[in-house]
Amino acid sequence: MAENSDCMTLDEFIRIGSHGAFPSPSLQTEYTQETFCARGYTPSEPKTGAVAAPIFLSATYAHPEPGVSTGYDYGRCLNPTRLELERTVAVLEKCSYSLGFTSGMAAISCLVKIFSPGDEIIVSNDLYGGTYRLFSLYEKYGIKFHYTDTSRIENIEGLMTPATRALFIETPSNPMMKITDLSACAALIHSHRSDGLLIADNTFLSPYFQKPHEFGADLIVHSGTKYLNGHHDVLSGFLVYDRKDFDDFFRTVQVSEGAVLSPFDSYMVLRGIKTLSVRMEQAQKNALRIVDFLKTCRSVERIYYPSLLEGAQKEIYERQTSGTGSMISFSVRDGNTVPHILRNLRLIMFAESLGGVQSLMTYPIAQTHQAIPQAMREAVGVDGRLLRLSVGIENADELIADLQNVLG
Ligand code: PLP
Repeated sequence: MAENSDCMTLDEFIRIGSHGAFPSPSLQTEYTQETFCARGYTPSEPKTGAVAAPIFLSATYAHPEPGVSTGYDYGRCLNPTRLELERTVAVLEKCSYSLGFTSGMAAISCLVKIFSPGDEIIVSNDLYGGTYRLFSLYEKYGIKFHYTDTSRIENIEGLMTPATRALFIETPSNPMMKITDLSACAALIHSHRSDGLLIADNTFLSPYFQKPHEFGADLIVHSGTKYLNGHHDVLSGFLVYDRKDFDDFFRTVQVSEGAVLSPFDSYMVLRGIKTLSVRMEQAQKNALRIVDFLKTCRSVERIYYPSLLEGAQKEIYERQTSGTGSMISFSVRDGNTVPHILRNLRLIMFAESLGGVQSLMTYPIAQTHQAIPQAMREAVGVDGRLLRLSVGIENADELIADLQNVLG
């Protein structure tokens, strides 16, 4: 793509398409995130001038003659709509490559294939239950996963062996909002082994508020189902990275397994990203108001939200993020009131997910974290009194009134 040009020619589009995502460096620096989100990677389709990305439904592509290709052969390998989205996500994460998957779990499953039997991975013990369940499946193939509170770097150091290949971090952690120091983890794993990897699940803050690659992460995963899409109407996942050898490997896995994001869903996520900045800002504003309200509730024992962090955790958080986001966890004093709370919310829905325009209340012990063994759940504080709120973009006063009605 020509530097400083807003449009790419069809030839350029095809050339880039055939080699994966290479965002123009000018796009990474020329615009603010807000502008980039609204504008998109390719602001208008070159042939027609369409300002909305076309949805290429075709599963296969005709070749003019043997040995000649447009760059597109078969939908499992490359699709122009998916590619546009992959480039967009890569730019947002300040990386050069990204792959779009059918779900966050499919993306994480692809990334595990980079490991070999005997490899050991140290994982945040406060993490999405589905990730724990997936990792348990891979134990059968000789990969070992060790869980610890990664917000304490000494815990990681204590588990490291010559076989330690990677750290897999959720920061803020889910749902207890602990902060892991990305730069310290990157330094640790990179000095431990030349092929050591720092992997960050960046779902909770989205690239809008946190860009783990800037702090040394080698691989970033997303449940695009959440903030990137933002409307609770698409399942999607992303792997993001900055190395050509990773791209060769992960593309081969993806082409072989076929968990590619569909053209229509790719379009939906592209559409969602156009409003990422306004959604993130509005939801965060609402979350800050709600935290202030929760502080006044006698029925609420403890609130977990990044603006409440203190000491070293606060310092790390402020260094590696640009916002506090819109995920709040809190524990109620009396676990017996939880059914009443969940039954009587009227605006906020009792549902398992996060990151959309509508606010959702989740009961982690029975939903997102059910797959985690009870002892491990209890050790991190996920018990029958803990609720997790994904704050949406509704009117803050109305959200607070809804909470007041059930929390008193
Ligand atoms: N990572 C995190 C932090 C999540 O919360 C989730 C799902 O809730 C996933 C990954 C998995 O994503 P998906 O549901 O899109 O497969």
